[in-house]
Amino acid sequence: MLPPNLLPTTLLATLPFWLPLTTAYTPLSESFLRAIPSPGDAFSIETTTTTTNTSLLAPLLIPRVPGTPGQQAAQAHLFNFFTTNLPAWNLTWQNSTSTTPATGSRQIPFANLIARRDPPWTKAGETNFLTLVAHYDSKLTPEGFIGATDSAAPCAILMWTAQVVDKYLTQMYDEMSALGEGGELAMDMGLQILFLDGEEAFVQWTDTDSLYGSRSLANQWSLSANPLPQQKFYKYRNPLSQISLFVLLDLLGEKGSKVPSYMPTTHWAYVALATVESRLRQLNLLETSSSSSSSSSSSQPTKNAPEDENDPSFLPDLNSTTASAKRAGISDDHLPFIHRGVETLHLIPKPFPNVWHTMEDDGAHLDLATVRDWARVMVGFVGEWLDLMEVWTEPEAEGEGTTTA
Ligand SMILES: [Zn+2]
Repeated sequence: MLPPNLLPTTLLATLPFWLPLTTAYTPLSESFLRAIPSPGDAFSIETTTTTTNTSLLAPLLIPRVPGTPGQQAAQAHLFNFFTTNLPAWNLTWQNSTSTTPATGSRQIPFANLIARRDPPWTKAGETNFLTLVAHYDSKLTPEGFIGATDSAAPCAILMWTAQVVDKYLTQMYDEMSALGEGGELAMDMGLQILFLDGEEAFVQWTDTDSLYGSRSLANQWSLSANPLPQQKFYKYRNPLSQISLFVLLDLLGEKGSKVPSYMPTTHWAYVALATVESRLRQLNLLETSSSSSSSSSSSQPTKNAPEDENDPSFLPDLNSTTASAKRAGISDDHLPFIHRGVETLHLIPKPFPNVWHTMEDDGAHLDLATVRDWARVMVGFVGEWLDLMEVWTEPEAEGEGTTTA
């Protein structure tokens, strides 16, 4: 969690006043950041048939239109990834159907996959979830559209993030269980990933022809009352109120794309994310850092000039004190949640990628270094939010006189 001075006033206002903020928030250490593994071939665009395909991304680089076999293949890939690699995660499908302007009276199926990892001691309605979100459907037209940035790559980034942080999360939950800890607001933290369906319009973007999956999920959750508290004196009233922050990734994977800070009420979270990115760049742990910044020996914080073409940062508003008021929000899967009071962080570039909604938005046009770097940044952000320094052991300093720079 974030330190009290970074807690948004809206969150503070929702906390019972008698609850002490006991969270021992600790920024990730340099050694933790260095230990974030390389994604390697996790985002390979090649599906190999000769060996076990380990790419998280390649199986999603197909048309994934709701109601077609591609949708089912994408669903199977997402589901099988968790059951095979992360069996402790709880998986739920949230299903709905709708007609669309392109498909007449036929009911088109939409299925959101909800993947959750929560503390083993919590009961229904007791966990607050950092919630990471991307849509896995693709657009009906142009025919054969892949949507690599939109949003196959963001889905794969979230899969990899889950895999990396789960190791630490498991250790933390095990240790806390053994010590009888937990049961406090700040300790009952989990991670939730939403793979949403039906984001794209079938014909033209309108309130009813778009966001099929997210509208259904937000509505269903708003009507799903959690059981009444029995032992604890706090509880979240429904699954929407369990979302501590809704982080939506969209249109990521193009080289040079920049994501501004859109939301005044979550600018603090944007800054936390951008700070992780900046620290990783200073440690030369990101592949997209320019040669000029990687050769810098200065320990000064990176000065991010948003209009500087040589600035490799994904999140240029790090040093802004507020969100960019001039930038209008963008319609996306966060809207049905915002309308129900959920705090959101929208990670979508402005301007959109050059390949947006064209046949060129395919695997070949992705910048895989950018995809890998986004994955590293997300792991750092999630690790800090979930306070994974609690289970991090600093490696022994090698040799006498080793000091931090
Ligand atoms: Zn799109």
